[in-house]
Amino acid sequence: MEFSLRKVYFDHSATTAIDHRVIEEMMPYFSDKFGNASSIHTFGREAKIALETAREHIARTLHANAAEIIFASGGTESDNLALKGTAYREKKRRHIITSNAEHHAVLRTCEFLQTQGFRITYLPVDKTGTVQPEVVAQHIDEDTFLISIMHANNEVGSINPIAGIGKIAREKGILFHTDAVQSFGKLPINVREMSIDMLSISAHKIHGPKGIGALYVRKGIVLEKLNHGGHHERDRRAGTENIPAIVGFGKAAVICQQEMGQESQRLATLRNAFYRQITENIPRVHLNGSFENRLPGNLNVAFEGIEGEALLLSLDLKGIAASSGSACTSGGVEPSHVLRAMGIPAELAQSSIRFSLGRGNSQEDVDYALSVLPEIVQRLRSISPFN
Ligand SMILES: *Cc1c(COP(=O)(O)O)cnc(C)c1O
Repeated sequence: MEFSLRKVYFDHSATTAIDHRVIEEMMPYFSDKFGNASSIHTFGREAKIALETAREHIARTLHANAAEIIFASGGTESDNLALKGTAYREKKRRHIITSNAEHHAVLRTCEFLQTQGFRITYLPVDKTGTVQPEVVAQHIDEDTFLISIMHANNEVGSINPIAGIGKIAREKGILFHTDAVQSFGKLPINVREMSIDMLSISAHKIHGPKGIGALYVRKGIVLEKLNHGGHHERDRRAGTENIPAIVGFGKAAVICQQEMGQESQRLATLRNAFYRQITENIPRVHLNGSFENRLPGNLNVAFEGIEGEALLLSLDLKGIAASSGSACTSGGVEPSHVLRAMGIPAELAQSSIRFSLGRGNSQEDVDYALSVLPEIVQRLRSISPFN
């Protein structure tokens, strides 16, 4: 008899399934409504209306204007556009402030800009993974033109006080960009009240399609282009718009906006119960990051004496998908740069696992994980050379 394994997806910070309501909304734009939004005939106008409606929806969720939204291929491109776009336009100043717990889309872009003659300050984060506005303020000088600090961290879910950072940047005449890929759709965002000049978001982290994202750019800010070509996106990002994906992104954003309050509470309750039972059933576990100040679905835990990768593989054999912040490199497994930046020793960082809960998860998923986790941890510890 065929035994079918239970499947539990606890990796919503990596990507999410497209919501069936989103797929339904997208479908006509793959077939009947296939027009190019730049065409002036009926087909084109239909696509254009869909494009601008989605733009309106996204703008509304951020309290921005539609004209301030540039669609791009995802969070990575939006981060690149924000950082390179402002750097290439800046005439005199050469200093950028960011943090050492940012996503690689920001960190690697900063490293590239360093090779182009820009000076970058990578602010240290505290032990919960956040950057306080006072710390940002201390590092501002005459030469600073851009601050890029993420809203919520993708590994530990820590939430930065971005309104405070935005306020300081605005007072000093410095542009403020935030990577909000993880927080968008999960936390309320108001770009006006938070003094945000640029903000990156992505659809596939919020049950929308992959390969589509957006950059909010406050009215009046001019960016150098990354893509040269046609006059798409008000001449800010050339290339025929991916209408089905954009329509899906708009729908996904609206759903999140409508369900955010209830869903956040549900996920936080589920996550807290999961964590409590892990600590009750497994000795020598440590929570990475803050208990209170974190995204509702995020749980990042170190299991002393075990390689995180080994735990991931064992969980996978039981049908459970989670993630470790470690990156496989040619030299072996590198511990997560975020956990290291938080001051977590390399060995504990290597023992850490991220469970990110989301829309598809239920109490049964948590119960199932708890039914297999203690035994796996015990077995791995018994054979571990670090133990
Ligand atoms: C996923 C992610 C990105 C990259 O977004 P893509 O759409 O996958 O390119 C950037 N920043 C953060 C914080 C992310 O979690």
